Amino acid sequence: MSATQLITWIVYLVAAVCFVMGLHLMRSPGTARRGNLLSAAGMGAAVLITVVLLLDSRSGVGWHGGVFAGIALVGGLAVGGGYGWYSAKTVKMTAMPQLVSVFNAVGGGAAAFVALTDFLHRMSLAGDISGAFGVDALLPVEFSVPVVLDIVIGSVTFTGSWIAAGKLQGIVSGNPITFAGSRIVMGASALLAVVAGVWTIAVGGNTWLLLACLVGALTFGVLLVLPIGGADMPVVISLLNAFTGLAVAMAGFVVDNEILIVAGALVGASGSILTKQMADAMNRSILSIMVGGFGQGDTSAAAAAVAASGASLRTVDADDVAIQLAYASKVMFVPGYGLAAGQAQHEIAELGDLLSAHGVTVYYAVHPVAGRMPGHMNVLLAEASVPYDEMKEMEEANPEFDTADVALVVGANDVTNPAARRAGTPISGMPILDVDHAKSVVVIKRGMGQGYAGIDNELYTDPKTGMFFSDAKKGLASLIGAVKEYLD
Ligand code: NDP
Repeated sequence: MSATQLITWIVYLVAAVCFVMGLHLMRSPGTARRGNLLSAAGMGAAVLITVVLLLDSRSGVGWHGGVFAGIALVGGLAVGGGYGWYSAKTVKMTAMPQLVSVFNAVGGGAAAFVALTDFLHRMSLAGDISGAFGVDALLPVEFSVPVVLDIVIGSVTFTGSWIAAGKLQGIVSGNPITFAGSRIVMGASALLAVVAGVWTIAVGGNTWLLLACLVGALTFGVLLVLPIGGADMPVVISLLNAFTGLAVAMAGFVVDNEILIVAGALVGASGSILTKQMADAMNRSILSIMVGGFGQGDTSAAAAAVAASGASLRTVDADDVAIQLAYASKVMFVPGYGLAAGQAQHEIAELGDLLSAHGVTVYYAVHPVAGRMPGHMNVLLAEASVPYDEMKEMEEANPEFDTADVALVVGANDVTNPAARRAGTPISGMPILDVDHAKSVVVIKRGMGQGYAGIDNELYTDPKTGMFFSDAKKGLASLIGAVKEYLD
């Protein structure tokens, strides 16, 4: 072992420790930023030492010596790192889920590419670039198994994540998309990927079989995510994130790189835990989500229920709401996607501080899938310096609504919709925030726009609900002004 290789091992070990400690720190909003920086520093060190290792021709690693590897690495670092830095810096908070999905896609795609190029390289060395069937066993099982797994998982992640990003961006319809026989084509593409993959391993490597496996997996990824609509999307994004980690870990086995295995395994494991937690929060089982039945349900059922109730909307203005807030003992804020879209986190925090300073008990009820990404509301509220003890996760928040004078819903819709308590709607079974248990409910939103699940909200026609039609930021700013008048 050369000195460079030894140093590389040590840096990899330190990087792995940074990842684990970083993940640990990310468990709490208070230390999450430090955890993120620590993990990023570990990854930066691992990438740099890998560059040094590959440039060091004496170490004897790298395919074509130092110069080619150097150009590819420095070019890749500049383009990929530069674009990653730029896009993460400039992305709007509300577009973050799409960016995460795109990062999942490129992560899974890159991992699959690593396996494919290494496979083709080894096959060409073995003289089978033509890929004819029936050749003698060329590649050992311990190489071809991770190659096939990497190609399958990475390709599904690649196409599935692009479709998910398109849905979140509104380029692809957010509704479930199916066509006649789509489930059969999906099953056939999965079968093709599995059969061709197993066959590739069994014959010790065959280029055409691996390409068939690749095509099957890419098609399966598209058809897996297209039928997903509405409420199951967060679970799927989280699942694809876990897949990215698994694909990267497999790429680590293919090219024999320990830090890829460690980083990929951590992403795969933590992503799987998050997926399980998200599925539990949505009252879905991961298996039923994976097998099918995504986002199904009768969207007209909720609308019919609203119409059948015969109730009409009651609108309120800033003054009406300010009186309720100023004379309340306990107020529950319910932030949702509209708060993020309106960038109103600082206004809600200011209103909360104002009320707290005058002796009103204020809590922020955070639903696990409010917004458009896991932890979306926690991130926004932390950015506005909302005290952590005022943020209540759903289980803690729900009992508080029973004794709340006012529930102020800001840009949240699906996560408050009582339709979830009935069968036959796209959000049936999803636990919701019990906003309607408060004595009075005020909803700030711009109009009667539906939420992500695309259904009407029965809460809005509840006689105790007042609709304050406004953009979240403007509405909260006018409330702050009006509340001050009553409190001063
Ligand atoms: P919703 O998507 O249900 O509703 C958001 C509401 O905000 C809309 O009805 C809209 O109504 C209103 N709104 C939009 N812009 C503004 C604005 N500037 N000011 C005020 N209101 C605004 O949000 P929820 O947070 O309640 O629910 C999240 C949904 O997203 C769930 O269905 C969840 O499954 C899904 N999802 C969650 C992900 C996650 O990981 N958290 C990922 C992907 C999807 P109007 O147009 O009338 O103003």
